[in-house]
Amino acid sequence: MFGICCNRESDVVHMTYQALYALQHRGQESCGIAVNNDGVIKHYSDVGLVPDVFNARVLGELGTGDMAVGHTRSAVKGELSRQDSQPLYLRHVKGPMALCHNGSIVNARALREAMELKGTVFHTSTDSEVIAYAITHARLRTPSIEAAVVEAMGQLEGAYSLVIMSPRKLIAARDPSGFRPLCIGQLSDGSFIFASESCALDTLGARYLRDVEPGEVVIASPGDGLRSITTHCGTQKLGLCAFEFVYIARPDSVVDGASVHIARQNAGRFLAQDSPVEADVVIGAPDSGLDAALGFSKESGIPYGVGFIKNRYIGRTFIQPDQNQREASVRLKLNALAATVSGKRVVLIDDSIVRGTTISVVVDLLRQAGATEVHVRVAAPPFRYPCYFGVDVDSRESLIANSYTTEEINNIIGADSLAYLSIEAVKKIAPTRSRAFCVGCFTGQYPVPTPQVLPKSRFETGISAQQKEE
Ligand code: SF4
Repeated sequence: MFGICCNRESDVVHMTYQALYALQHRGQESCGIAVNNDGVIKHYSDVGLVPDVFNARVLGELGTGDMAVGHTRSAVKGELSRQDSQPLYLRHVKGPMALCHNGSIVNARALREAMELKGTVFHTSTDSEVIAYAITHARLRTPSIEAAVVEAMGQLEGAYSLVIMSPRKLIAARDPSGFRPLCIGQLSDGSFIFASESCALDTLGARYLRDVEPGEVVIASPGDGLRSITTHCGTQKLGLCAFEFVYIARPDSVVDGASVHIARQNAGRFLAQDSPVEADVVIGAPDSGLDAALGFSKESGIPYGVGFIKNRYIGRTFIQPDQNQREASVRLKLNALAATVSGKRVVLIDDSIVRGTTISVVVDLLRQAGATEVHVRVAAPPFRYPCYFGVDVDSRESLIANSYTTEEINNIIGADSLAYLSIEAVKKIAPTRSRAFCVGCFTGQYPVPTPQVLPKSRFETGISAQQKEE
C-alpha cells in the first residue's frame, strides 16, 4: 500500500509503480494505481503481479498528477477477481475517492448487512468496500473527508491501515491497535509518502520520517505540510502483528521503529539460547529463515552456511492444490547445497510451520544431500489459533501444532530434533519497539474482541501464511 502527495504535477504514476515493486511481497494476487490530476482521478487495477498488470501503455494512459495511491493485494481465500483489486475507486456526491486497505475488519459482516438494509449496493466481496462506504456515508454528515474518516473509524473493529486519496488530500489512517504497519516518508523536494513498509521509501530515495501512530489520521495536501488527528489514539489495546517481523515484512524494512532484519536475528539468538544443539553448520530456509539462521549462528558459534538455492522463477500460478504436486513444487523451488550440508550435522532455521508440508520436504532434501543430522529450529511459536486480522493462518484443523505435540511433529517431519521460539521470546525480538505485539495466533489471546464465527472469504483481504507452504 502506497500513497504520494507532491507539491506540483509530477510523474507520480511511475513512482507508485516502483514502490509497488518494492511492496510486491505483501500481495501477489492483484494490484492497482490511482492518480489524481487537478481533482480528476484515473485508476487502473487488475489481477496479477505488478509487471503483469502494468506496461508502458497503461502507465502512459494514467498520465501524471500531484497525488497517487497504489496497492498490491493478497486475497487469502476465494476467487481472484479484478473487481476486488485495489485501489477501490468510488464516485460520490462529495467528490471521488480512491481507497487502499491492508488488514481485515472483524465486524465487516454486520456493517455490510446494516448498509445493505439501508439500500447500499456492494460491487466487490471485500471488507475494504465496507470501509469505503462507512467513510462516504459519514462524509454526508461531516465538514471534511478527514472528519469522515475519523467518524468511520468509530464504527470499524479489527485491523486496518488505510491510504485514501480525495481530489485535494492524501490521508493515512491506522486502527487503534496498529495491527498493520504504515509509515511516513519524505522526498528531498518536500513530497510526502505513506507506505506499508519503509523499503518502498528506500526504493524512491525518500527519507523515513516516522510511523503513523495506532489510531492516528495523518493528512497531506499539495503545498501544505502534514496534519495529524489523534482522536482514536490510545482507545484500544496495542497489538502490531508479530508475524510482520517473523515473515511478512521485508528484512530491509523498519516497522514501528524496529529493523525487521535485527528482529529476525534476535529470534535466532533466542532460539540458540533456549534450544541449543551440537551441530556443524546453521542454515536458513529461504528467504525469511535466513536472518534468524544468522542470529542462531552468531549466538551459538556454529558456522553459518548457505544450505539452499532458491529458484526465483516459480510463480504462484504454478502451484497446484494436490498434495503430491505441492511437494513437487517445493522441490522445484528449493535445492539443497550438498557442498554445505553433506556429512554435516545441520541446524535448519525456518520462520514458521503451518501445515508442516514444506518443512517435511525440506528435511528430506537435506538428508538426500548428505546431512547426517537435521535439527529444526522455528523462529516463531507454534501456530494454534486463527487470525482475524488479515493473515490467513489456516483453519485450526489444518494447523499441525493444533493436532500434534512438538515430539509428534518432529517425527512427522523426519527431523532429529525440533524446537520453537517461545511466546516470551517472540515478544522481545524487537527491543527498540516498546509497544505490545499481537500474538493471538500463538496464544488464542487477541488484543481486541474477535467475531463468534470465522471470517468468510468474501470479507477477507490480507496476507496468507499458507503461501510459504504452497
Ligand atoms: S493473530 Fe497472529 S497473524 Fe493475526 S495479527 Fe495477531 S499475530 Fe498477526
